[in-house]
Amino acid sequence: MQKISLAIHGGAGTILKEDMTPDLEKAFLEGLEDALAAGYAILEAGGSSANAVKAAVVSLEDNILFNAGRGAVFTKDGVQEMDAAIMEGNALAAGAVAGVRNIRNPIELASAVMLNSNHVLLSGKGANDFAGKQGFTLETDEYFFSQFRYDQWKQMHETDHYALDHSQQQSAGLLKDKKFGTVGAVACDSKGNIAAATSTGGMTNKPYGRIGDSPLIGIGTYANNKTCAISCTGHGEPFIKAVAAYDVSCLMEYKGMSLPEAMNEVVNNKLLQLEGEGGMIGVDANGHTALLFNSAGMYRGARSSDGISFVRIYGE
Ligand code: ASP
Repeated sequence: MQKISLAIHGGAGTILKEDMTPDLEKAFLEGLEDALAAGYAILEAGGSSANAVKAAVVSLEDNILFNAGRGAVFTKDGVQEMDAAIMEGNALAAGAVAGVRNIRNPIELASAVMLNSNHVLLSGKGANDFAGKQGFTLETDEYFFSQFRYDQWKQMHETDHYALDHSQQQSAGLLKDKKFGTVGAVACDSKGNIAAATSTGGMTNKPYGRIGDSPLIGIGTYANNKTCAISCTGHGEPFIKAVAAYDVSCLMEYKGMSLPEAMNEVVNNKLLQLEGEGGMIGVDANGHTALLFNSAGMYRGARSSDGISFVRIYGE
């Protein structure tokens, strides 16, 4: 019988138990549980993997604790510019948006690009105009505001610190706060179709117009029934250089690696060589999931019809 499964992430980075309060830890775990429940209910009812990953990501976007939708990080200019992508592994259908503003659920807009346009990736004003034509209503800036992200940004915004700076001196002030809160989901449905979705506010204090890996098909997000569905999180630039998600797919397709083997090669070898901190979640068309990261922690969880169900934060 076809195994159904769902894996989610809420970002990877320097997530340490000593920096967490019990209340905050509980809230993160509940947020992950809620997202798993939202996506898995769709799979259990016979729904598609695309709808399941979308529902899980919407739940995380609506949760102020995660860096996507509500609670997204501030750019250098003090606003939220969000990126999202979704892909279906059966027909290789894909949709993505980059640098969108005031959209409550960027993943819904990415899905609208996939379903209702002839394009794959719309950015900035064009994407926002498309949202208007598709009947999306805009949220106010206040909706996206979170004190925590604001304070993070305040520490940085008058400096040239942003996560693109790699020199020791420039990144020194960032090291303690290297948390990446992007959200994502991958799923395998009862027909054996797989899908991936990713949504993010990007990196704190990023310059206007900077686009990370998340909305780029084959990099932060990819799905192909022949191999795997992948959603990444971490420092976007090295992930882009590594063509991270598609490389996992290629290692499976051309080298015959299993999903965990291919993910391990990319996360713990290729990305590390590029100083690419972060992680990814994956699923194959048999419903096997893998969740891997080279950072201290990754908000994550998985559920499947063979009884697996967990949410976790730290490395172990
Ligand atoms: N990968 C995202 C980016 O670079 C950040 C993250 O994963 O939190 O935009």
